[in-house]
Amino acid sequence: MNKKPFYITTTLPYVNAEPHIGHAVEFVRADIIARFKKLQGQDVFFNTGTDEHGLKIYQKAKQLGLEPQAYVDQVSAKFKEIMPLLGIAVDEPGITFNFIRTTDPHHVKAAQTFWMTVKENGYIYKKHYAAKYCVGCELEKTESELVNGKCPLHPLQELEIIEEENYFFKFSAFQQKLLELYEKNPTLVIPDFRFNEIKAFVSRGLEDFSISRLKEKMVWGVPVPDDDKHVMYVWFDALVDYISAIGWPDDEIKGEKSVGAFKKWWIDTGGVVQYCGKDNLRQQSAIWQAMLISAGLPPSKTIVIDASSPAKAASRCPSLWVIPLTRWISSNNTAPTPCAITSPVNCRLSKIHRSPWRSSRRHITRIWRMEWGI
Ligand SMILES: [Zn+2]
Repeated sequence: MNKKPFYITTTLPYVNAEPHIGHAVEFVRADIIARFKKLQGQDVFFNTGTDEHGLKIYQKAKQLGLEPQAYVDQVSAKFKEIMPLLGIAVDEPGITFNFIRTTDPHHVKAAQTFWMTVKENGYIYKKHYAAKYCVGCELEKTESELVNGKCPLHPLQELEIIEEENYFFKFSAFQQKLLELYEKNPTLVIPDFRFNEIKAFVSRGLEDFSISRLKEKMVWGVPVPDDDKHVMYVWFDALVDYISAIGWPDDEIKGEKSVGAFKKWWIDTGGVVQYCGKDNLRQQSAIWQAMLISAGLPPSKTIVIDASSPAKAASRCPSLWVIPLTRWISSNNTAPTPCAITSPVNCRLSKIHRSPWRSSRRHITRIWRMEWGI
């Protein structure tokens, strides 16, 4: 008898910084779910990797005097190396571990096919554009989202003013469709209070957003397939990794043919389980779901929103949360164990700074007991 398939993914961290403990939290928690599903007798696909395009990365590479590709190769390798040290199931029978890079040729091809599909369906158009943009979030900010003229998550960064002709995604067309999707799938977003938050956000109305940049200003992105003056901008490239990782559109995984892969891991599973931090709520639960509908694809299965995200926790507790993992390993002669990461009792950090770990434990225990039967 064929085992029931199960597909889980983390978000892909930006490679503008080395892997730190905040990243480890997300990898390890997703890994625990992957292993649990394997123990329940399911055939598991576990996706993680690195997000390698965008202004933030381009600026960082320039600052270091490196070509963007050389820079992302270096940092992505560090993320890949850290996986086995964290005890992630990279080589576990019954779990297919996949480390995707958004610079992988098969992903770039998938992102371009996705773009063309959405454009042909009438949800991409070009217009003149002027906006305030937070490079830290890689998101446009409306006035109502700012605190003292700054992004509340990145109060030390100046907002960029962007003015040019860009391609837009017709996000505004998806308000009703998203609300219907949320109505039909009462466990699409867990926990409930995060689901309520995103329902309220969508109910207030959606604005179209820019999904390209002029290549002459920012060259580091996936080329827009039918306009060589533009590159795609971050989310419209990166989020597609959740389907390119499992073979969309050509049943190719890492350049190799894998017949029936997309059907097995997306259609037969009922979609992906996305594990992410709370700063990703909007992108994972609204933007990505609208993108899937716009391309005629079925939605995700579940989006697990965790208590803390690296960005938020880092702003609250910078010296501890962002300790590079390599430094942790060299000072402790071992990687932080899953227990250290998920349990405040055994975590050295918790003695110094309790709150993120404590709230994180409460949150994850509740999710796992109620929603996952763990
Ligand atoms: Zn920001």
